[in-house]
Amino acid sequence: MEKAKVIIKKINAGLVKSCKKCGDINVLSRVVLCIAVFMVVVAAGVICFYKPARDAVFSTETHTIVEVKSGDTLSKILGNNGFSMRDIDTISKNLKKDADFTTLRAGRDKIDFVRPSEDEPISKIVIENGPWNKIEIDCGTPDTWQCQKIEIARDTRVAYKEGEIASGSSFYLSALDAGIPEGIILDVYDLLAFEMDFERDIRAGQKFYVLYEENFASDKKVDNGHVLAISFDALRGNVQMFRYVKPDGKSGYYDENGNGAIKSLKRTPINNAKVTSSFSKGRKHPVLGFTRAHKGVDFRAPTGTPIPAAGAGRVIARSFNRGHGNFVKIRHNGTFETLYAHMSKFAKGVNVGTVVRQGQIIGYAGSTGLSTGPHLHYEVIKNGVHVNPLTVKLPAIDNLDASNKALFMERKAKILETIKTLKDSPNQIIRMDGDEKIKK
Ligand SMILES: [Zn+2]
Repeated sequence: MEKAKVIIKKINAGLVKSCKKCGDINVLSRVVLCIAVFMVVVAAGVICFYKPARDAVFSTETHTIVEVKSGDTLSKILGNNGFSMRDIDTISKNLKKDADFTTLRAGRDKIDFVRPSEDEPISKIVIENGPWNKIEIDCGTPDTWQCQKIEIARDTRVAYKEGEIASGSSFYLSALDAGIPEGIILDVYDLLAFEMDFERDIRAGQKFYVLYEENFASDKKVDNGHVLAISFDALRGNVQMFRYVKPDGKSGYYDENGNGAIKSLKRTPINNAKVTSSFSKGRKHPVLGFTRAHKGVDFRAPTGTPIPAAGAGRVIARSFNRGHGNFVKIRHNGTFETLYAHMSKFAKGVNVGTVVRQGQIIGYAGSTGLSTGPHLHYEVIKNGVHVNPLTVKLPAIDNLDASNKALFMERKAKILETIKTLKDSPNQIIRMDGDEKIKK
């Protein structure tokens, strides 16, 4: 087409020249006719020899698309579309052999039966299993039904959204208002689960932002990828998290200094303390003398040993009772609470309602209440049920070594630069390498 344009330009130039020279009107009409003929020839050439254009003009292919519903099987669907038992058998065998595919999933998979034209037999079957995979089954001659797995190219771009907690609103609703997709909001909840209590520590005016991935196929958004960065103005200060993939492919979230950002609970609040009595559903109580469940773990600790909070949270009890003596109870999030008993005294400034950070001293070991000697009695309560602090499943606390920390700092700088760019021009398409290759 470029060539055609150049030729037309040349002819036009010639036309202007000849008109100026002799003013012969017949030259003009002859040249116009020439141009018209030339363009028809070019157009015909494009249609005949340029394959995609020809397909668009002449294709008679028909598609019958079947959405897989609960109770459907491949044999059933193939049978309904006129396939013989022999073909069904060959297709099933080849699907397993060539594409490692055995079962259709209702609600996700689609089957496209392709005919070259309306009254010809099916020549191709395409199984779309999930947004990023499809399997093409070609009829072949004679009916060989060869299968081929096809991975759809994933184009990962990044999106930035920021917001503020509206008066009387929740994080969830304020984040939806900010345009953050629901799946990403739930990821943020999980990532910040040990940082803050989304029911109690939310205040109007708290600002937040999220940088996350969006996956596109042929310029159409298909789904969301990973959360790449979070910032949240929590009660105890601004919390930031950045996703970083180590050279070995393992990924994690780290704070602005490269320390593991996924907070958890410490199984043993006092480092290196010896366990003197473990968690049990029934044991002989040392003071009461009869069998009773031990709902926590006892750690040896001389009177006055500082007791750090096992995780960030809010103090929900600071009190005395006959069994526990002086005790503090902390609510960490919607799931976990911890309790520290037999304290000799409480730490200054720790009261009901105080927001504490992980490691903050909340009191000092002692032997108040039903106790035979100074120790820390530590309980973890998950969804209202006492669990064994030493074995309960908790997220791992992960810190980076020096070389990873240096790489992380580079990654963080890149993320912050991307955020700045997207703040200025939200519609700019940005891809960040080094991350999108690792699938969720
Ligand atoms: Zn105990």
